[in-house]
Amino acid sequence: MRVGILGGGPAGLLTGARLASGDADVTVFEEHREIGVPNHCTSVISRETLAEAGVDPERTVVSRLRGVQLGIPGGAVVRYKSDEVRALVIDRPSFDKELALSFLKGGGEIELGGRVEIEFNQRPHVLKASDGKIEPDVLIDCGGAKSFLRRKPKAGSALSGVQFDVLDTDMERDVAEIWVDKRRNPDFFLWCVPVNSEVVRIGSAWRASPAEEMLMKFTMWRFGSAQVVSKYFGPLIVSGYLLPFFDGNAAFVGDSAGQTKPTTGGGLRYGLMAANLAAEALLEASSLIDVKHALSDYQRNWLGTWKREVDWQRSARRLFRLMGNDELNQVLNWIKEEVILPDLVEGGKLDHHASLLRITSKKALLKSGLSVVRSLILGLSS
Ligand SMILES: Cc1cc2nc3c(=O)[nH]c(=O)nc-3n(C[C@H](O)[C@H](O)[C@H](O)COP(=O)(O)OP(=O)(O)OC[C@H]3O[C@@H](n4cnc5c(N)ncnc54)[C@H](O)[C@@H]3O)c2cc1C
Repeated sequence: MRVGILGGGPAGLLTGARLASGDADVTVFEEHREIGVPNHCTSVISRETLAEAGVDPERTVVSRLRGVQLGIPGGAVVRYKSDEVRALVIDRPSFDKELALSFLKGGGEIELGGRVEIEFNQRPHVLKASDGKIEPDVLIDCGGAKSFLRRKPKAGSALSGVQFDVLDTDMERDVAEIWVDKRRNPDFFLWCVPVNSEVVRIGSAWRASPAEEMLMKFTMWRFGSAQVVSKYFGPLIVSGYLLPFFDGNAAFVGDSAGQTKPTTGGGLRYGLMAANLAAEALLEASSLIDVKHALSDYQRNWLGTWKREVDWQRSARRLFRLMGNDELNQVLNWIKEEVILPDLVEGGKLDHHASLLRITSKKALLKSGLSVVRSLILGLSS
């Protein structure tokens, strides 16, 4: 089977590596001249994500997080640190390069520095490059947010992500901060993640401009005159999976299929699992006629694992957008008074945010005093 993959990000490289190791003849086309560059990602992942990718932690993990601080500027702040590592921060360019190495070792080929397009108006679909058409048996669109936005240009399905790296050594190195402030950002939370002993990555995502200016105001509030050493910009997909995951002999994997968490926009775990599922299904196809069945198996298996979770996260995101600072402050105060954060950090799962609701609702049902928490649970279950 000859496979052409558009996009040399994690989804494209892992799908390629799995297919190449199963004897498919695979080429990845990446428009940039270097894998992993430019980077837009905060790069906070779970251990399960690394396992899904099969990447060695020693070569990619730059920081280990044990705790979190949640807060509203001028309002409630709650903090908890575990004895255990709860999340990893990776160096994304190294992570992508590790995936590329394993793809190349398995016999795959990478063509760098040239844009390709899938011609969807032709059946079977073909790839168009600057020097002509390429006709693999199967095409996989792993073009990330750009491909997603081409398929779903609707306002609100992606936010404009902005991040700054600032030099700061005061922040505790193994605790991430999450701030909510509807005046600074009605659409999303703001994060501060220590990425090494000197640098903290601050970021957020907005529906509308001026995102960079708003993040600078927050940076000044939180870190004063700390030096900003890098700025990153990129679309964050928050609308969740975009069906179908296939069209004729073409499949969509990763951000191009909206395989991200609506609550945070984090897409590495969901996209990497999709890469494994898509490759596994395609390798079972004994002829090209079976490709359609294989791709429909891929879609069913991914939805079987993540659909409920992502649907829940979509509701949680809608609810967050409806809440104002007063309600958020009440929730945070409640989390603080009832000492819920330790349970959330110890029992919650980074890729399964519905687990956080289960923990919170247990406590809420026991106490049931706070109207905002009750409406949160009712809102999410409706
Ligand atoms: C601000 C921000 C912070 C984030 N933080 C996190 C986080 O902490 N944790 C997490 O899990 N996720 C995070 N994400 C999301 C994560 O970066 C994506 O989910 C992940 O990169 C998706 O991988 P992918 O391979 O699908 O797409 P990408 O990584 O975007 O790769 C797509 C590749 O395709 C190439 N390409 C596109 N079009 C073409 C074309 N026509 N021809 C050739 N090549 C093409 C691109 O150059 C790119 O290399 C964040 C995203 C943003 C924007």
